[in-house]
Amino acid sequence: MAQLADCLFCKIVVGDVPATAVRETDRVVAFRDINPQAPTHVLVIPKEHYANADELAAADADLTAEVITQAAAVAADEGVDVSGYRIVFNTGAGAGQSVFHVHAHVLGGRDLTWPPG
Ligand code: 5GP
Ligand code: ZN
Repeated sequence: MAQLADCLFCKIVVGDVPATAVRETDRVVAFRDINPQAPTHVLVIPKEHYANADELAAADADLTAEVITQAAAVAADEGVDVSGYRIVFNTGAGAGQSVFHVHAHVLGGRDLTWPPG
């Protein structure tokens, strides 16, 4: 599996950095964000390294679908599927991406209507 030695989320995949996993498949893992922005804040990542959603989608449509399917399963597990939740792929530093291993933020458990206010 393609991984980068200096990538934080690749290190989480192989267990070199600890994380609180909530779901795992052969190709995807979901773990709690270390700095949660909502009562439910889980990150869903492919185990294989892709820098962002564009690269993942261009390379592997099945894996892209699995990340989103697992995000929906996390929302159901967390009980936020009925109330509503947000799936966010920050793409590029200008949009707030700080870890360049693609991840879906799954946010729920509070008012997430957009635009706020
Ligand atoms: P981004 O800003 O790239 O969209 O999201 C990166 C997310 O990773 C942030 O929400 C940040 O809190 C989270 N994060 C950064 N370092 C760690 C870590 O070591 N463990 C976990 N579980 N989350 C992290
Ligand atoms: Zn990585």
